[in-house]
Amino acid sequence: MPPTAPSAAVTTARFRALIGGALIDIPGARIDVAAPATGEVFAQVPDCVLAELDRAVTAARRAQPAWAADESARRTALLRFASLIEENAARLANLLAQENGKPLRAAQGETFGAVEHVRWTAEAEIATQTVDHPGREQVVLEHVPVGVVAAIVPWNAPLVMAAHKIAAATRVGNTVVLKPSPFTPVATLALAELAAQAFPPGVVNVLPGGDELGRGMTAHPGIDLVSFTGSAAVGRSIMAAAAGTLKRVILELGGNDAAIVLDDADPDAVAPGLFFSSFLLSGQVCQAIKRLYVHRSQYDAVVERLVAIAEAAQLGEPFDEGVTMGPLTTPAQRDRVAALVEDARARGGRVRTGGHAVERPGYFYAPTIVTDLDDDAPLVAEEQFGPALPVLVYDDLDDAIERANGTPYGLSASVWTSDVARGAEVARRLVGGSLWINRHAGVDADIPFGGMRQSGLGRESGLAGLLGYTELRTLAVPTLPTTEEVAR
Ligand code: NAD
Repeated sequence: MPPTAPSAAVTTARFRALIGGALIDIPGARIDVAAPATGEVFAQVPDCVLAELDRAVTAARRAQPAWAADESARRTALLRFASLIEENAARLANLLAQENGKPLRAAQGETFGAVEHVRWTAEAEIATQTVDHPGREQVVLEHVPVGVVAAIVPWNAPLVMAAHKIAAATRVGNTVVLKPSPFTPVATLALAELAAQAFPPGVVNVLPGGDELGRGMTAHPGIDLVSFTGSAAVGRSIMAAAAGTLKRVILELGGNDAAIVLDDADPDAVAPGLFFSSFLLSGQVCQAIKRLYVHRSQYDAVVERLVAIAEAAQLGEPFDEGVTMGPLTTPAQRDRVAALVEDARARGGRVRTGGHAVERPGYFYAPTIVTDLDDDAPLVAEEQFGPALPVLVYDDLDDAIERANGTPYGLSASVWTSDVARGAEVARRLVGGSLWINRHAGVDADIPFGGMRQSGLGRESGLAGLLGYTELRTLAVPTLPTTEEVAR
C-alpha cells in the first residue's frame, strides 16, 4: 500500500446511506462516531430507521431476479468492486483506523483482506452436480440464490466483514441490505460509495443504524436470510426473531478460544506468537486466544516472556509512529475488561503486568497477564474480548483438553509444540471450527470459517461459505429414449 498521510482530524466528508443505487442523506437523527483513541467525535452518519429499511428491501427485491439471471455480470461487478477497494485503500484504511482505533498498519491489512475476499469470491467456481437415474431421468442439483440477504456486522473488523458479506451474498445471485455497527459505520459507508459504482441499483444497499434497525431487519418479511456476525447473546435473539418468518440464518458468534502449550514447546519460540494471537487488535478478535493453558514445566518461562512482550508494547493512536496496540473500540468494552480484571484480582488472581486503564484520552487499557485463577473465574469462563489474558497451569494433558473444551463455545483452538505431528493429534481432540498448530486466528478467503456449539451456525468464506448463501434445488429431467432406442 502506498504511504498514507496520517490524519486524525475531524472529517468533513458526508457519509450517506446507499439505497436503490443512490447515495442518500437521511434528514433527522444522526449517529456521532467517536475516535476511540481520543474519545472525540470525528464524523456523523445518518441514523436509518424502518422507513429506510422498507425502501432498501423494496429496491433489493426489485433488483434480485435480473441480478440472479446473469452470472457473468455478477463476476464483472465483483471484480470491479475489488479494484475500486484497492484503488481507494488509503482512504478506507485511514477511516477504519480512526473509527476503530486499530493501528494504521492493521487497518491497511484489513483493507487488503477485503480486496482478497471480494476477488476470490468473484473468481470462485460453483459446480452443478448431476445424478443419473439410468433409463429414467437425470437430476440436476443446482445452487440457487435465497433472495434478499440482511447482513449485520460488528465493530471489530467492520470493513473486511462488510466486503466479504456483500461479495458472498451477491456472487451467488442474492441482493443485500447491510448494516454496520453504529460504533464503526464510516469506512463501510465509504465502501458503499464504491459499491454504488460497481453494482446495478438495488443490488447492494447499506444502511447505518443502531440495534433497533438490526431488529427490524431480522423481522422484516422481505428478507430471506440473515447473515450476522456479533455476540452470542444477539445471535440468540436473531435466531428467535428469524423463526417468525423462517428466515435462513448464518451466525458467526463469540468464542472463548483456548490455546494449549505442550511440555515440549520452546518458550522463546512460542511466546511472540502467543502474545500476538492473544492481543491483536487489543484482544478484540473473535478468534483471539482468550485462555492459555501451559504445561507446568514451561509455565514460568512462558509467563515471564509474555510479561516482557506486554511491557514492550507501544500503545498509541492509530497514526503514531511505531504503535503496536490501540485502544478498545468502545468505552463499554474497556469497562467490561476492567471489571473482569478487578474481579480476577478480588478472587486471588495475580496480575503479572497491566491491570489498569491507561491515563490518557481515549479508551486504552494496558495489556494484562493474569495467573493463579480457577477456570470458573469470569475472566477465564467468559469471553473478555480485550487485552487481558488469563494464563493457567496444567500437569496432565487429558485434563487440559477437558478444561479447554469445557465451555459452551467452539469457535477455534490451537496447540503450541515443537512436534507438529503430536500437535495435530492433540488439536483434533479440541472443539473448534478452526484448529491450528503454533498459530491462532486469521481468516482466509478460501478457507471456511465458523463456530461449533454456541459459537455459531453455518460457515463463512471458502466454497462452503458461499454455498451457505444458496438454496439447493433439484431438477429432474426425463431422459427420453434416443431414436435408435425407439427403433430397436
Ligand atoms: P453485537 O452483537 O453487540 O452487535 C453486532 C451487530 O448487531 C451490530 O451491528 C448491532 O447494531 C447489531 N444488533 C444488536 N442487537 C441486535 C438485535 N437484537 N438484532 C439485530 N441486530 C442487532 O456485537 P459487537 O459488540 O458489535 O461485537 C463483538 C462481538 O462480536 C463479540 O462477541 C465477538 O466475539 C463477536 N464476533 C464474532 C466474529 C465471528 O466471526 N465469529 C467476528 C467478530 C466478532
